Amino acid sequence: MAPTGTRELAHSLALLFRDCIENGEEGRGIIDAARLAYKLYDLSADRHPPPDPLSCKAGCSYCCHSFVAVTAPEAFLLAERFSEHVRDEGAMSVDEFLKRARPLAGMGPTARYDNELLPCPFLVDDKCSVYEVRPVVCRKTCSYSVQACIDGFNKVGGGTVPQDTARQTFGEGCSITLTAALRSLGFPWASYEMSEAVSVILRTEDALHRWTQGEDILAEVQSNVAVPAQLKTAIAEFSDAIS
Ligand code: SF4
Ligand code: SF4
Repeated sequence: MAPTGTRELAHSLALLFRDCIENGEEGRGIIDAARLAYKLYDLSADRHPPPDPLSCKAGCSYCCHSFVAVTAPEAFLLAERFSEHVRDEGAMSVDEFLKRARPLAGMGPTARYDNELLPCPFLVDDKCSVYEVRPVVCRKTCSYSVQACIDGFNKVGGGTVPQDTARQTFGEGCSITLTAALRSLGFPWASYEMSEAVSVILRTEDALHRWTQGEDILAEVQSNVAVPAQLKTAIAEFSDAIS
């Protein structure tokens, strides 16, 4: 059973996201909500150092060859950040990003793993080129054993990567309450494969305005990964509670 107050805390977080989305000007609350999720996650993670040292280091990128699920706000923030820096010296062009993302289209986590493991389109020289706005899924991915990550990358063993459970909990809490806020406001609350969603946004003129005005430009790239029933129930409950 969840500790007393956990549900109420989740309602408060969902309300915070809802308030952020509603009060942003010209639909920008959607992007602000993703930033808020990252801030909440980072503050929580910083306040709770893992009990043992993690193996994660800059330049270690085995995990950046996996399926990454994002919410719509996260995809809009990534696309905005990417577009803002596209003219920087040495930055990746939109065409290059779309080219890198194309082979990943339509592949769920299993297909991604079963085929040749392809890097995330944002991975440059084994580093994340959008590090400060990387999705919650990437933030909470961590490992106490780089060997377990290497084994996973090489498809040997079949063991699990030992992760810090607090980071998983913080990440899930942020994602669920952000999703509940989207649902409570009548926005699409699906999850998407990151590079597909960002590709659609980059290719669509006035994407944020159109999406916030009710045109679901991301409908076709909605992830078909089944959301666990327990998660769906939590999202629905938190959403109803703040509607
Ligand atoms: S999760 Fe694994 S692959 Fe990713 S940075 Fe940490 S140790 Fe490296
Ligand atoms: S967004 Fe960054 S951290 Fe996440 S998978 Fe891509 S390169 Fe890795």
